Amino acid sequence: MIKNEEIEKVIDESQQGSTLALEKDEKNGRKLYIESYGCQMNFSDSEIVASILAKEGFNTTQELEEADLVLVNTCSIREKAEVTVRKRLEKFNAVKRTNPGMKVGVLGCMAERLKSKFLEEEKIVDMVVGPDAYKDLPNLIQEIDEGRNAVNVILSKDETYADVAPVRLNSNGVSAFVSITRGCDNMCTFCVVPFTRGRERSRDPQSILEEVNDLWEKGFKEITLLGQNVDSYLWYGGGLKKDFDKATNMQKATSVNFAKLLELVARAQPKMRIRFSTSNPQDMTLDVIESMAKYDNICKYIHLPVQSGSNRILKAMNRLHTREEYFELIDNIRKIIPDCAISQDMITGFPTETEADHQDTLSLMEYVKYDFGFMFAYSERPGTLAERKLDDDIPEKTKKRRLSEVIELQQQHSFHRTQQHLGKTEEVLIEGPSKKSDAHWMGRNSQNTVVVFPKENYNIGDFVNVKINECTSATLIGEAIGLSGNN
Ligand code: SAM
Repeated sequence: MIKNEEIEKVIDESQQGSTLALEKDEKNGRKLYIESYGCQMNFSDSEIVASILAKEGFNTTQELEEADLVLVNTCSIREKAEVTVRKRLEKFNAVKRTNPGMKVGVLGCMAERLKSKFLEEEKIVDMVVGPDAYKDLPNLIQEIDEGRNAVNVILSKDETYADVAPVRLNSNGVSAFVSITRGCDNMCTFCVVPFTRGRERSRDPQSILEEVNDLWEKGFKEITLLGQNVDSYLWYGGGLKKDFDKATNMQKATSVNFAKLLELVARAQPKMRIRFSTSNPQDMTLDVIESMAKYDNICKYIHLPVQSGSNRILKAMNRLHTREEYFELIDNIRKIIPDCAISQDMITGFPTETEADHQDTLSLMEYVKYDFGFMFAYSERPGTLAERKLDDDIPEKTKKRRLSEVIELQQQHSFHRTQQHLGKTEEVLIEGPSKKSDAHWMGRNSQNTVVVFPKENYNIGDFVNVKINECTSATLIGEAIGLSGNN
């Protein structure tokens, strides 16, 4: 059986901590080393940071020892993520002893959560910058250049970085993230995100379309619209989602919700694949599923975290739907898009979770038979409602045992799902060489399942029809039968 640690991931674990680099600009004389942890949003934010700093005279480097500025974009979602970053900070400080001119900055969710603690008590960093303060980086860097510590962790009501064109770091040139909302208003009791990323706000659809069109011009073939809760996207001329009530009638009449945004993007670039993440069941409406069904270029895949199968636990988590409502949503997805893949996030060992609650989670999984899953043992996060109101009372051993059972069941379901593709011919977008074999390409089908097949004369970025011959629980193996009509 696969160890829990190996499975535990929010996004591709192999990406965690990766350094990001972009092409050198000869005019720039200073060297930036930037490392990112956590969700896709953080990786996307690092591209915004690199774009802002490129204008400040920084080239990126992958050599820590030669950096003038080291930035670490951090994650607070579970304790483990914070422990990893703290270890990295120790390493940076060791390097600092041999390169005293090097400055270290903490960005992202840990910056927000720990604020000036890093500077005042631990004295391990020079600069602390929260996720809404990246445009202030030029001023903050000037401060540290002049020998002072610098901090800006102010959360904003309207910052969406709509006017910053992100540079694509270590990109495969084929797929890119486009962020559409920032922050989250859902207040799930286990989750630190509303505290570290602030209130939910949506980005101007015009700037989203411009970014998508620009990516197409640059040769990108697939985008993922990003947000903590994309279904909650709502543009009415700016402002917080929670203030929509106060909007004028005109603003309301011309507002753009997520279903409309999806259609705008799908129509703007009909050959581009459109993905999105993450969906929260309580905010996902039927019009989104209908928009997905209407456009071939919107991928048939929904990441629909549920966190638990027990109504009692869902309520304690402040997930504003029941198990029955979730099933209704799943039934509707299957009815409207029969070949849609669905994935989950699940938490085991939330406070007060009984064996019966855990069995409810397993039976919910049996009903849905998810294609993929991202599964975690509950990690109490300081400041969250659960931390303030509930005892973290499930022994670590029990959390881990339940997690293993959830992972084992997910593996069976993933294998069941990959088997359904056998014998079919599916369109695959080539992303790069297979990790395991230089003679094979790796890409994904519309359902987001990884497909590998012999390279022949195909190229990265080609849409290829692949006949699926074999599978494991995570990968489809096939042979190309020609370019698809989408090239
Ligand atoms: N916004 C999304 C949602 O609400 O479904 C995803 C948020 S988070 C970046 C990704 C996943 O981390 C969550 O779906 C949840 O399963 C997990 N997670 C969040 N807080 C956690 C905690 N305190 N302990 C364990 N897992 C947690």
